[in-house]
Amino acid sequence: MDETATATSNSNEIDAPTSRKIYKGGCFCGNVTYQVIGPPILSAYCHCTLCQRVNASPFILSVHFPAASFSWSHAAPHESNMDPYAIHHKPWKVRWRCKNCGSVVASNNTKLDKWSIWGAQLERDSAGRIIGWDEVKPTAHIFYDTRLVDVADDLGKWTGYENESERIG
Ligand SMILES: [Zn+2]
Ligand SMILES: [Zn+2]
Repeated sequence: MDETATATSNSNEIDAPTSRKIYKGGCFCGNVTYQVIGPPILSAYCHCTLCQRVNASPFILSVHFPAASFSWSHAAPHESNMDPYAIHHKPWKVRWRCKNCGSVVASNNTKLDKWSIWGAQLERDSAGRIIGWDEVKPTAHIFYDTRLVDVADDLGKWTGYENESERIG
């Protein structure tokens, strides 16, 4: 078991594109939809003040993908269903929200060439569970210093990004 893990850990080419999972998501009303190809770069509960205020939520499940893994899947022209929104001091980060229901569905970071989506908006099965949860589920709580609520789970709690900041829980 250990030998297998070591042998595959540094060989990403084993993950042929055909074996990678596709996840669907979108806004509440369904006018804006996207698909992403797993696995994500990062999946974490974010407690930063920006996520809290933009989403009116104590924390959100933020999932990041490389730009090449993200595409809109609603009818073109894609922009006609959405409004862009960029925070003035971070113009390289554009959030897209549905013109109809107002949900913020995805954020494009052109500096890092990646997209962020919100895990809660991924497609569900008939029981209401997110499809493919094992691959997209969070691995940490990030920006936990500014939390509005304590979370008693087994995931690491970090002051910034996982493994790039101080672990405080
Ligand atoms: Zn909508
Ligand atoms: Zn955040």
